[in-house]
Amino acid sequence: MTQPISEVVVVGGGPAGSACAAELVRLGIPVLVWDRAVFPRDKVCAGWITPQIADALRLDPAEYGRRHVCQPILAFRVGLIGADTIEVQYDRPVSYGIRRCEFDTYLLRRCGAALQLGEPVRRIQRCSEGWTINGRLRTRMLVGAGGHFCPVARTLRGGRDSAAPTVPAQEIEFRMTSEQARHCRVAPECPELYFCRDFLGYAWCFRKGDYLNIGIGRIGEPRLSAHLQDFLAFLKRTGRVPFDLPGRFKGHAYRLLAPPLDHAVADAAVLVGDALGLAYPQSGEGIRPAVESGLLAARTIAAAAGRYDRTVLQRYADWLHDRFVGDRAIDDAAMGGLDATASSHTDATGLATDGRFSTTSAATAAGTTAPSESPSADERPTTPHTKRLTTPRLPARERRRDIPAAGDGPLRRLRCLAGRLLLRNPWFVRRIVLEKWFLHRHVPPVFGTREASSTDRRS
Ligand SMILES: Cc1cc2nc3c(=O)[nH]c(=O)nc-3n(C[C@H](O)[C@H](O)[C@H](O)COP(=O)(O)OP(=O)(O)OC[C@H]3O[C@@H](n4cnc5c(N)ncnc54)[C@H](O)[C@@H]3O)c2cc1C
Repeated sequence: MTQPISEVVVVGGGPAGSACAAELVRLGIPVLVWDRAVFPRDKVCAGWITPQIADALRLDPAEYGRRHVCQPILAFRVGLIGADTIEVQYDRPVSYGIRRCEFDTYLLRRCGAALQLGEPVRRIQRCSEGWTINGRLRTRMLVGAGGHFCPVARTLRGGRDSAAPTVPAQEIEFRMTSEQARHCRVAPECPELYFCRDFLGYAWCFRKGDYLNIGIGRIGEPRLSAHLQDFLAFLKRTGRVPFDLPGRFKGHAYRLLAPPLDHAVADAAVLVGDALGLAYPQSGEGIRPAVESGLLAARTIAAAAGRYDRTVLQRYADWLHDRFVGDRAIDDAAMGGLDATASSHTDATGLATDGRFSTTSAATAAGTTAPSESPSADERPTTPHTKRLTTPRLPARERRRDIPAAGDGPLRRLRCLAGRLLLRNPWFVRRIVLEKWFLHRHVPPVFGTREASSTDRRS
């Protein structure tokens, strides 16, 4: 029996896959999105998106927020776990907090593609027309958007693992009871970001309406759980989150952008989003690169007009390089001595895909005796938009029991010292940490680029 044939199959219906599919539909190319999950499905993620993502997706946050959680962010609190923090405020929303179970479902339903949900892609084989999937569907063109464990990426790499730095992460998201919401001192419009003391990762505490999201990510580092416990103890001790957390943390991982992006294209196939490993190195933000790579891939496919060989698709890899690798070079120069993501640590040990951690026991082990912050006594304005907040110190005896740092040589100690000093500087926190590394305000919209507009004309 002849198998049915599809023009384009997108494997994975996350932000990368649905953005790619929506753009293909808009450009008149028939497309099927194939995801192993039935939506709504959750994705381990803090759920922080920037306005640039909303623009690229043609999504109005106010409209979206009528039926979904869409928390405007007007400030950030930034510091080192256990140390003083700096709060930076803005006059208008600089980001939004969404829930991935809602956001991804909304984007997938809206994309207008045919959907094949609830069955994993297990087998991908070359055939004369392009590819055969699970032995029963042929496609001329394949888009790998299956995230960190994408089967298309695995096939294109010949089963080998990527050498890019991996960030194992753990996270919990839950709806607070009214009692918990009353006692939680994290403000909804002000997510809190705390760097680990060895600068190999950071933790966050992010309130989206009644939902609380707490997590931590560290570069290829096995002591993730120890740092998570340290962070939870800190949140409890300072009264930020004074109650026991319900449930367990979930683990996932993502790869940081690491050139060269060799596997971005193959004959009749491209990779987008986490399948390729495009998360911004300093912040781990992956949704924007996922959406943008999905859009760029769709335009490349449309412009190829059925000639899906590698040389034609190479344009997509070139765009990615210009956009993401060029941007990374700028950021690296700005970082100077403080390499918050320590990209030399590429050994991805302790991948926490099924590693689960009981928060209740961690929080109990942490103890809760120290006094909480007193906002009026501890806040000191530095500029009209920033203020310093003092954190009660641990007793010296406790401080000495610090978690041993990885690769604790003189250079790393120097970097940590520089990092500590810089994180006390309101200018550095606002301009470099937030606006450059986390908000990417200097990166123009994806379709403002010369290359993309020329594709628009061709397609
Ligand atoms: C703890 C944590 C916090 C994060 N926080 C943020 C944040 O706040 N902001 C941000 O921008 N980024 C964040 N990221 C990164 C972000 O989540 C990812 O970069 C983003 O989800 C990538 O989107 P994607 O579409 O490429 O992949 P995904 O969102 O992972 O989607 C992949 C899809 O492929 C499907 N799939 C996988 N395997 C198969 C298969 N065999 N067959 C069929 N379908 C398959 C999956 O079901 C899934 O729906 C975070 C990551 C982690 C781990």
